[in-house]
Amino acid sequence: MMQRPDNTKEVLPGPVLLLGAPGVGKGTQAKRLMDEFGIPQISTGDLLREHRKNQTQLGLMADALMSSGQLVPDDLVNKMVETRLQQPDTQRGYILDGFPRTLNQAEWLDAQLTDAPLPVVAVSIVVPEQVLLERITGRFSCPVCGTIYNQFSHPPLQPGVCDRDGTALIQRSDDTEPVFRERMKAFQAKTSAVIEYYKAHGSRFAQVEGDAPVDQVTGAIRAALRRLRQAAALPQPSPAGTTRLKTTSNV
Ligand SMILES: [Zn+2]
Repeated sequence: MMQRPDNTKEVLPGPVLLLGAPGVGKGTQAKRLMDEFGIPQISTGDLLREHRKNQTQLGLMADALMSSGQLVPDDLVNKMVETRLQQPDTQRGYILDGFPRTLNQAEWLDAQLTDAPLPVVAVSIVVPEQVLLERITGRFSCPVCGTIYNQFSHPPLQPGVCDRDGTALIQRSDDTEPVFRERMKAFQAKTSAVIEYYKAHGSRFAQVEGDAPVDQVTGAIRAALRRLRQAAALPQPSPAGTTRLKTTSNV
């Protein structure tokens, strides 16, 4: 067994499931954590694409199912994750994206990791729904120079017109409120069971306020990870007066 991380020093991230609704900035934060900790991101979408592209046995099985209109079953996705976790770059940790997304997968992953030095912890980036709605439905871009505007937070000088070249701005057809509401509903339905799982199986879930400057959100995620890893390393309650910053975690 590896040694537990030193509480006073840098956090050893271990496996981290990063959760966030569309528009919370999950991709940006994942990238930063990868750079900071030198750990990979493991996305089941990427794994599936790679396996299909490389025509591996698993990829061919996925191809066969998908070409007949079927979904790729949990078992097949689990196998891809299992293979990926055997790579040496996962030693210090990794960021899980889009996996586990069901109770079965969460249980399967825990069973896989019984001998691992650190269990999976889940960190959820949360932004008020109204803020997300404005981030997404307020987004317009210039088809000529690519400048992105937001009618709420970064409007052009003249409504609907690019400041640089006067071109009429366009909006993506799925950046609408009904599409946004549907995606939020789907996200909540998909993640609630997984969040409940990590809450119920030890102190393995934290929520981070994502409506803040990017650096501040990264700091909050780092602090949440440190707290979760200390909770795992030290079963007794943490000392009174522990700094909480702008994050909360379940107890
Ligand atoms: Zn322009």
